[in-house]
Amino acid sequence: MAEEFDVIVVGTGAGGGTLAHTIAPSGKRILLLERGTYLSKELDNWDPGEVFVDGKYISPDTWYDGDGTPFQPQIHYFVGGATKMYGAALYRLRPADFGELKHLDGISPDWPVTYDDFEPWYTKAEWLYQVHGSHGEDPTEGRWSRQYPWPAVSHAPRIQQISDSLAQGGYHPFHAPCGILLNEADRPASTCIRCAWCDGYPCMVHAKADAEVIAVRPILGLPNVTLLRNAEVTRLQTDPGGHTVTGVVVDRGGDGKEEIYRADIIVLAAGAANTAKILLRSASDAHPAGLANGSDQVGRNYMFHNSKAVAAFGEHDNDTVYQKTLAINDFYLPGIGREWPLGNIQMLGKSNAGAMKGEEPHLTKLIPGWSLDEAAHHAVDFWLTTEDLPKPDNRVTVDSDGNIHLDYSDSNESEAADLYGEFRKILNHVGLAKHHVLHKNFFMSMNIPIAGVAHQAGTARFGTDPATSVLDVNCKAHELDNLYVADTSFFPSIGAVNPALTAIANAIRVGEHIAGRLGVSTATGASAPAPRTEHPTHGEL
Ligand SMILES: Cc1cc2nc3c(=O)[nH]c(=O)nc-3n(C[C@H](O)[C@H](O)[C@H](O)COP(=O)(O)OP(=O)(O)OC[C@H]3O[C@@H](n4cnc5c(N)ncnc54)[C@H](O)[C@@H]3O)c2cc1C
Repeated sequence: MAEEFDVIVVGTGAGGGTLAHTIAPSGKRILLLERGTYLSKELDNWDPGEVFVDGKYISPDTWYDGDGTPFQPQIHYFVGGATKMYGAALYRLRPADFGELKHLDGISPDWPVTYDDFEPWYTKAEWLYQVHGSHGEDPTEGRWSRQYPWPAVSHAPRIQQISDSLAQGGYHPFHAPCGILLNEADRPASTCIRCAWCDGYPCMVHAKADAEVIAVRPILGLPNVTLLRNAEVTRLQTDPGGHTVTGVVVDRGGDGKEEIYRADIIVLAAGAANTAKILLRSASDAHPAGLANGSDQVGRNYMFHNSKAVAAFGEHDNDTVYQKTLAINDFYLPGIGREWPLGNIQMLGKSNAGAMKGEEPHLTKLIPGWSLDEAAHHAVDFWLTTEDLPKPDNRVTVDSDGNIHLDYSDSNESEAADLYGEFRKILNHVGLAKHHVLHKNFFMSMNIPIAGVAHQAGTARFGTDPATSVLDVNCKAHELDNLYVADTSFFPSIGAVNPALTAIANAIRVGEHIAGRLGVSTATGASAPAPRTEHPTHGEL
């Protein structure tokens, strides 16, 4: 293709899709290169057997662990990236996450920006992704300059009971922030039927605030935006001095035939592992260890959270449909008698018999007298997250055939165990403890935890020191004039809340920076609030 572009964005997920959406209104010529295609809207989207048991939407990629053992990563290559499957729980990191935090296993390093620096983009991200929530309920949250665009999603009766019991017990439950497009009478454009299918499933009615629906589709009608699907970027070329990216090499269709695209600015947003892969595969005389890798930091410090998915089974029925409305952060920060943080507890998408069959075929034996359907009806599902630390040896490397190798050993195991201990006390408090708990694999894999790459981050961290970071504070590679990274690779630490809102906020921030560099405005872009009316206070739907 002879055509040249102002900006090439590699990847259309939370980072790449949002960044393109930010710059698109400026009129600059943008090329989006996406390795996947559209995820089909089909009944299988909501079929637990297809999604959870057969893994219909998981890429057939093979990666290798530190011992060279092959595994299939739970990764999804589609327009919209991992957000096609995400639970749309859109949390801000807490202010303490931007500073240095002492953990039992080491230090979670500080960021080169503070929470307050970052706050304006969190607000823009919440408004762009139409988040429902209620700022002011969770004592650990930071300053917010604007309330969520939509009121919090109300709890179903069983979850409200749990929330009330927690509050009576001195805990601080809060309404979880959810990126869904609800189908309420006064919101005719929205289509969410508030089913259980957000978490780990694609949304068949496109009512989840994912990157395809919110960021990519709305800009595809613009004359300055081009999307190429089935376009896998394999490497980047530079000028002989290695200062400027001059070509983006693309394999379209996997037949090894290459096409080269050019632009003034290149943005990598292929996800933390694949962005590292592209940089490492772009080694040249000027960058022998991989592009932008003079510091030997590319691929290192891989993080993905120390998480547990748990279903608790009580005597009471739980006929909740949309369950992800409750969270607590009472153990998020260091506490009395404890100098280290433990993490976040939130609700998960509701268990159903089909998914449980895949997760635990022996369940009926564990819970005598119940069928899988009954067990699912009694299940209350939780997700526990402890921060894992950025360790240099937790690392993505690439072999001579271009395969990803992922070396990983966990951290903060005893914090995760303590969080689970606190969780058991909570179950006791809400009347679920005497009964059974099932450890679910959900979108981690219990057998091969390393395959659960949903929250991957950290492989090209940003910082002020080129010796210890890959990117500068604007997420431009220290060593290149025109190369940016705008996915979760930039995280210096991952905190203990879900990462997507931080990736989205950062993509808007970096997009605005790039627009400024190109001398154009993004005034009608991501900074323009999307919802129709503002709800300054919490309200029930
Ligand atoms: C099942 C599941 C549930 C989740 N739930 C939540 C949640 O509730 N809340 C939350 O905050 N986070 C959640 N996450 C994580 C969240 O989706 C990710 O953190 C986020 O999408 C990461 O954004 P990204 O831009 O870094 O990568 P992605 O969104 O994955 O985007 C990367 C894109 O790059 C493309 N790509 C990859 N390689 C190439 C290449 N070589 N050339 C061209 N294109 C390429 C991919 O196809 C993809 O479109 C979940 C993830 C999963 C899988």
